[in-house]
Amino acid sequence: MIKDIKNHIKSLLRLTLIMSFPLLLFFTLGYFLVSETDSFYRELGAIFCITVICISFILLVKSYKLKSILLVFFQWLLALFIAFKLFFYYTFDTKPTASSIFVIFETNATESSEFFKSYFNFSFIVILMLCFSICIYLIIKSLLKEKAFNFLDFSITNRAFQISLIGLILVSGYMLRRSFSEQSIVLKLSESIKDYNIAKDYYKEHLAQSINNDIKITSQTKEEQIGIVIIGEATSRWHMGLYNYNRKTNPLLSKMKEELYVFNDVIAPDVMTILSLEKALTLSNNKNPKAENNFSVVQLANAANYDTYWISNQQPVGFTESTPTIIATAAKQQQFLATDNYFSTIYDESLIPEIEKVITSKGKRKLVFVHLIGTHRTYKKRYPESYNYFKGVNERTKFKTDKSKRLVNEYDNAIRYNDYVISEIINLVKKQHKNSFVVYFSDHGDEVYDTIDFVGHHRHKGSKPMFDIPFIAWFSDKYKLKNSRIDTLTNYSNRKYNAEDFIYSFSDIINVDFIGNDKSRSLFNINFKERKRWIKDSLDYDRWK
Ligand SMILES: [Zn+2]
Repeated sequence: MIKDIKNHIKSLLRLTLIMSFPLLLFFTLGYFLVSETDSFYRELGAIFCITVICISFILLVKSYKLKSILLVFFQWLLALFIAFKLFFYYTFDTKPTASSIFVIFETNATESSEFFKSYFNFSFIVILMLCFSICIYLIIKSLLKEKAFNFLDFSITNRAFQISLIGLILVSGYMLRRSFSEQSIVLKLSESIKDYNIAKDYYKEHLAQSINNDIKITSQTKEEQIGIVIIGEATSRWHMGLYNYNRKTNPLLSKMKEELYVFNDVIAPDVMTILSLEKALTLSNNKNPKAENNFSVVQLANAANYDTYWISNQQPVGFTESTPTIIATAAKQQQFLATDNYFSTIYDESLIPEIEKVITSKGKRKLVFVHLIGTHRTYKKRYPESYNYFKGVNERTKFKTDKSKRLVNEYDNAIRYNDYVISEIINLVKKQHKNSFVVYFSDHGDEVYDTIDFVGHHRHKGSKPMFDIPFIAWFSDKYKLKNSRIDTLTNYSNRKYNAEDFIYSFSDIINVDFIGNDKSRSLFNINFKERKRWIKDSLDYDRWK
């Protein structure tokens, strides 16, 4: 009997030791990677609770086989947990939150796969291997040896012991929920998925249909028109020659500068594609994220009797349908040109012949929404070799390493190629000599070692280059003739504007008025009023340093 107890204790200790490995590993690595002490202890607490639950579960099971399977499975699960956590702390110096997790199922897989690809490096792979080392060891052991986990071959049938195990599970579960809900990935993940699905349903309900009965148009013109709205991707005006960047990244647009209305102070409402576009392209904004009777620019154009087209170089579906795709489904015709291969090279010039086909086809009122792949990572896969133009070091780069020098060159090349695409689209429309306009803005920018030692766009790293976007408009002579007020736009180039109000600017240039319209939110309107520019839900951009 005593020998039995002694053996049981030995087995228990061994099990506890193995199961505590992830906790110990997080303790050691987290000590260096988690900068906030509070977060560090909270994380440890959460992993401790999960470990206790796992051990108790294994002990409750009688069968040796099931015990062994659970041991390996829980090890794998915990390894995944801490690897995920360490990845966030290591890469973003922040805890995984709903919005950072959002990235993973965000929109098109292009974003998420490239997101991981660009942040995966050698040191993280070492961390990853450490996280999974015990798990892999256990798997190999169980494959090579029969009854590899001999020490698990016991079961304590004592009622009191079992009841206390159940008690432990319940208490740990309760603690997790109460104190560590911020830290628990399981809870966070399920909450995020829930939020995500609610958001999806909301968008599908309001934005997916071509006709939205909530739109009440009060006035509109019926004249022939071709309008093009180009939605850029990850293009920051910090790297655009047109906005005084020290490299000639906009040779073509700069050449036609006289014909353009270049707005100098437009920001994106957020730094993630969907979080930005769901505001820019609909009535929603940071202060009113789920606008009642919401509708999109596409639906508004439909209601104003335009033939609407959505031509995109971004993947329509990834993990799940993306918000821009839902908005696109309201268009009368949609074309998604990018292939399924997320790692593949995608050039925006492939959009040009499609745009040409549309604008030269029959039809009197046309609105074409063009969604670029733009200058999204991986930068060097966004332009052909002939655009490999910038080499050497840009003195302006704040953090100079071999990696940053290379990425700045690649980003600048991508911007220079983007310059070609935008100017080419404008030239295409210009050739038609119709009543037409082209508007271009980017969904957000990217930080490319301009202000912080970071490349890309991420909410928690949020920096000005991620929010500062280009906003450019071009109008044909015929358009200007019919809309003489356009002349005044040159006076408006320094207006402080948040692209979350784009729908009001859009309705303004297509001369459509609707119930609920607010002309003081149109960048192009004489009645424009500057207002607080909210970003990331409730941060005041103009007071933020
Ligand atoms: Zn984006």
